[in-house]
Amino acid sequence: MSWQDEVVAHRRALHQIPELGFEESETQAYLHQALQSMGLDPVAHKTGLWADIEGNGPGKTVMLRADIDGLPLKEDTGLSFSSRHEGIMHACGHDGHMAILLGTTARLLANRDDFTGRVRVAFQPAEEKPPGGAVDLIAAGVLEGVDEVLGLHLWSEFPVGEVQLLAGPAMANADEFIIRVKGRGGHGSAPETTKDAVLIAAQIVVNLQTIVSRRIGAFDPAVVSCGTISGGANFNIIAEQAEITGTVRTFSQEVQKRIRQEIHHIAQTTAQLCDAEVDFSYVMGYPAVVNHAQTVARWSKALGGVVELREGQPSMGGEDFAYYLHHRPGAFLFLGCAPQGEIFPHHSPHFLINEEALPLGVEALWRGVQSVSE
Ligand code: MN
Repeated sequence: MSWQDEVVAHRRALHQIPELGFEESETQAYLHQALQSMGLDPVAHKTGLWADIEGNGPGKTVMLRADIDGLPLKEDTGLSFSSRHEGIMHACGHDGHMAILLGTTARLLANRDDFTGRVRVAFQPAEEKPPGGAVDLIAAGVLEGVDEVLGLHLWSEFPVGEVQLLAGPAMANADEFIIRVKGRGGHGSAPETTKDAVLIAAQIVVNLQTIVSRRIGAFDPAVVSCGTISGGANFNIIAEQAEITGTVRTFSQEVQKRIRQEIHHIAQTTAQLCDAEVDFSYVMGYPAVVNHAQTVARWSKALGGVVELREGQPSMGGEDFAYYLHHRPGAFLFLGCAPQGEIFPHHSPHFLINEEALPLGVEALWRGVQSVSE
C-alpha cells in the first residue's frame, strides 16, 4: 500500500468509530495500536495520548496536535464507511486530522535524518466540548519540553491544494449566553393579568441585534447569534418563563467585555418595561486563536511550491488550540478539502471531505517540522 493509501485507510477506519469528547476509548485504542506498530511507546492521559520521535541530533521540540472527537449527529452521507456508532459522526474532519498525524508520524520515522530535535505527536480529546481537552492535556504535561506547537484543520470551504495560514488572529473568542425571562403566567384571554415571558423574550432577541449594528465599531469584528428561544406550554396559556441561548464571537477582549455587558443590560431593561425580571449567565468559551508571526513566516515559506497560500480572513469559529498558543509560540493552519460536487458545512450530517487533501496535510506538517528544525 502506498503511504497515501495508508493515510486514507486510517481515515476511513477512524470515520467508522466516532466517539464524543472524553469518551474516545475505541479511538484511543486504535491510535495506540497504530503508534505501537510503528515502534513508538505512547503516553496516555484519559482518552488522549502522545509520543515522541527523535530526529538527527539536538534541536528544538515541536509538537503536532490532532483533535480526535466526533459530534452528536446521525450521519447521512451514504458513504460505504459511514459511522458504526449510532447518533455520533465525524462531521468536522477530526478523523482526517488523526489520519494526517499518523501519516506524518510514519514520514518522520522514515526520515529521521532530515530533521533535528524532537517531534511530539499529540492526539487531543474533546475539542468539540468546551472547556475542551487542550487545557486538560496541558495540565497533564503535554507541553513540557516543547518549544513550538503546530496544528491544522481540514476546511471544506477551500479547494484542495489551498491553505490559509494567517499571522495574528485566526479564530475567534467563542462564548455562550443564557437569558431566563421570569414573567407571570396566566390565561391567554386575559393578558392584562400576566407578564408575558414569550413576548419579552421575542423583544430581547430583536433588541440584541442592535449591539453589533449600533454599539460596536464597524472595524471591530463581532457576532451575536441567538441559537434557541423556548418557552410556553400551550396555545391558550401565557408563558411564565422563557429562555434564550446564544453565542458571541469576538477577537478583542474589550469588545468581548462590552458585548457581555450590553446583552445583560438589554435583557434587563427590556424585561423591566414589562415589570418582569431576567437571570443572565455568560460562559466564556475558547479564547481566540492567535498565530505567532514568526512561526507563520517560517511555515509559509516552507509550504512554497507544495500548496497555494490563500489571502483570507480569520474565521469566527472557535478552537481550543488557542490554549497551546497561550503557553508556546505556534500556528494553526486551514487545509482546503472541498469535495467534488455540493459542499456541506462542517457539523452537517452530510459533511464530506475530499480525501486528496490528506496527503497534503502530511506534507504540510512535515514541512512545518522542518521549518522549525532549520
Ligand atoms: Mn473541528
